Amino acid sequence: MHDFQYRQSELCCEEVPLARIAKEIGTPCYVYSHATLVRHFRAFDGAFHTVPHIVAFAMKANSNLAVLRLMAREGSGADIVSAGELYRALQAGIPPTKIVFAGVGKSREEIRYALATDILMFNVESSDELRTLDEVAAEMGRRARVALRINPDIDPKTHPYISTGLKKSKFGISADRALDEFKLASSLPHIEVVGVHKHIGSQLTDLSPFVDSLKKVLTLVEALRAQGTDIRYINIGGGLGITYDDETPPHPDDLSAAISPLVKDLKCVLIMEPGRVIVGNAGILLTRVLYTKEGDAKRFVIVDAAMNDLIRPSLYGAYHEIRPVHETSRAKIVTVDVVGPVCESGDFLAKDRAMPDARPGDLLAVMSAGAYGFTMASNYNSRPRVPEVMVRGGEIHVVRAREEYADLVRGEVIPEFLR
Ligand SMILES: *Cc1c(COP(=O)(O)O)cnc(C)c1O
Repeated sequence: MHDFQYRQSELCCEEVPLARIAKEIGTPCYVYSHATLVRHFRAFDGAFHTVPHIVAFAMKANSNLAVLRLMAREGSGADIVSAGELYRALQAGIPPTKIVFAGVGKSREEIRYALATDILMFNVESSDELRTLDEVAAEMGRRARVALRINPDIDPKTHPYISTGLKKSKFGISADRALDEFKLASSLPHIEVVGVHKHIGSQLTDLSPFVDSLKKVLTLVEALRAQGTDIRYINIGGGLGITYDDETPPHPDDLSAAISPLVKDLKCVLIMEPGRVIVGNAGILLTRVLYTKEGDAKRFVIVDAAMNDLIRPSLYGAYHEIRPVHETSRAKIVTVDVVGPVCESGDFLAKDRAMPDARPGDLLAVMSAGAYGFTMASNYNSRPRVPEVMVRGGEIHVVRAREEYADLVRGEVIPEFLR
């Protein structure tokens, strides 16, 4: 459930008509619902109340400081994948004791920064990384807590670009090699092995990949304990899907019912890294129709938002529902491509979509845009990045200002010889 609903034919975020946001802030802009964010976090966190756990919000889904502060207040930690994300997490007040660091390519600088802030642990993805981590920790006179990321070779049955737990994927260490890697880790003086990690992909709409991959991890935990390695944390990653179109993903309660019994007697802390399921349906991209045009083969609705603002349709062929902000009964249903101003044929928000006929000036809401929306935005075609707005009840808060033209050239220099 989310808080973008029609009131007297006007699409609202909580108590605020989206038309008011368009008028005050302009379009395009991202709009997040405070109430939805809180409800989604609590639904997830609450589902696991029977087991000791840490929810480490996967901040690559949405890393706005206000969103992160809200998560911190709700008791969330963070799953980070770069030093930049660590910086943001700390700025937002997320305690380092709840920060876990994943990613196949952590640089020495990034490792140093994370060790200096004493994050909970590194989710290590290769033996090269283990050795580097050991070296950097030695230089700093520290011990790095680590979990090894296991690639359980489970097909999550999702889009190949967001599938991460198959043999051919760059992520993690294969289950067969895991025991050897753990041996190596235990032999390194500045490494403290504390956990096992896995994350098999995103937008999962079925429980079985979660359960099957966890079972593989648990077999490993048993073997590790038998050889004397004390595993205190089991990190099952993120990946729970949401409804974009007609998917019916499991509720966090269902996930917990499947997972919690398997881990509850292990005397481990369960770590989870949900991203999309918390923020996806808590945000929309608000856009205005600029023009319509009848092509030879198609009708186009040209809007002021583009692939640089929301790349998921172009990148993954992702479906986002598009709703008119003013619901009218007069509009007939037509099949259109909703496209942006960027000079690429791949610039579209919807293809062959049956929707109420839109006219120039109309406002549209691109739904389910709270995850992997703004965080993947770019300045392509020198388009300033759009603002982010958080609505709380009847209040509108701009939580990131619209970029200005000056922002586009910040840091660029014309060298002396060209002056
Ligand atoms: C992206 C990612 C997540 C979050 O995935 P969602 O599908 O948004 O829940 C969690 N853990 C890791 C390691 C990731 O890379």
